[in-house]
Amino acid sequence: MVVVSDFDAIVIGAGIQGSYTAYHLSKNSKTLLIDQFALPHSRGSSHGQTRIIRKAYSKTCYTHMMTECYQLWKQLEAEANVELFRTGFKRYQETQETADAGMWSNQQSAGGTQQDLFRRFGGTIRDGEKVVEIHPGSLVAVTTTTGIYRAKSLVITAGPWTNKLLNLVGLQLPLKTLRIIVCYWKEKVPGTYGISKGFPCFLRMFSSAFQHHFYGLPSNEYPGLMKVCYHNGNDSDPDERDIAFRLPSQDVNLLSDFLSKEFPGLDPKPAVIEYCMYTNTPDLDFILDHHPDHRNIIIGAGFSGHGFKLAPVVGKVLSELCIGKKPSYDLSPFKIHRFSFKSLL
Ligand SMILES: Cc1cc2nc3c(=O)[nH]c(=O)nc-3n(C[C@H](O)[C@H](O)[C@H](O)COP(=O)(O)OP(=O)(O)OC[C@H]3O[C@@H](n4cnc5c(N)ncnc54)[C@H](O)[C@@H]3O)c2cc1C
Repeated sequence: MVVVSDFDAIVIGAGIQGSYTAYHLSKNSKTLLIDQFALPHSRGSSHGQTRIIRKAYSKTCYTHMMTECYQLWKQLEAEANVELFRTGFKRYQETQETADAGMWSNQQSAGGTQQDLFRRFGGTIRDGEKVVEIHPGSLVAVTTTTGIYRAKSLVITAGPWTNKLLNLVGLQLPLKTLRIIVCYWKEKVPGTYGISKGFPCFLRMFSSAFQHHFYGLPSNEYPGLMKVCYHNGNDSDPDERDIAFRLPSQDVNLLSDFLSKEFPGLDPKPAVIEYCMYTNTPDLDFILDHHPDHRNIIIGAGFSGHGFKLAPVVGKVLSELCIGKKPSYDLSPFKIHRFSFKSLL
């Protein structure tokens, strides 16, 4: 017999954006958070232990949101009685960004922390259940590989799988999914660039004189290995991300050249390579909006490689859209209608 469970809200995708949305929703609504993989997993965009956060943005819509994000990250630490490590941020040559940034470390447990708090507030998590059907209506019905759930509203925060999910509800957005290589480089003298020495994270941004955008974080996740990455990648289906023969040696070579010149204390051959996904919009701004044909289906997508730091506020505004409350921020930069999109209806 198929059991149908009813909720106020369902969130599909337990990456950082879905977990934060579910956390906000669970304070007032009976909420279900679904993920296709057993949690925690490293198949999407939110894994790894470190992220750069910064208030400095060329677009003020993000700067405004970051003020509250810093407060909400702190609130998360207090509610869960955990501490996220921080280190500084360095302006790097032609970098346009200004200071007031930092690094959040131990974010793997931050993601799990939101899920723990979500459960504590009465939320339900169903992991290892892939959503295979969505039936819009005044009650949205979601079918997974093991159950059927209904709710007054649905939030889709499926990262690089977003268009696969939206295909089930007659919509395709202009999203590009990129496989990103995450490289760790060995310090020739252990500790040279270590977090314990207060070595900062850095951004080396694209400029007329420098054609690439690199960033780095002090050694922390793996002792003696510094994380330095290229803020770009190759088109990839998220379900094919880990196929080894597609190793993009060109990106590794770019990083090796950069490190040989700028970080002589690192061995310019990567010691560890991992993978992650970006989901980019054409203008690299997020999508935070209702489905154009189904108002009770909310979409949070296209975080374009810079969404982690903003997740506390992204989750807040998605939860507000979900319960029909006026969003706390002007969401016009994040509307679907700024693009030509494909309605499959
Ligand atoms: C290498 C790397 C470095 C980054 N560095 C930074 C940084 O320094 N600062 C910053 O702010 N941002 C950074 N980002 C970006 C940030 O991490 C992402 O914007 C963010 O993690 C996106 O989260 P998400 O929840 O949208 O997606 P995801 O984490 O991919 O989560 C989507 C979830 O949906 C689930 N799902 C998909 N389809 C289904 C289905 N059919 N049924 C059930 N579940 C489903 C998936 O399993 C997955 O768990 C970085 C990203 C990468 C890859």
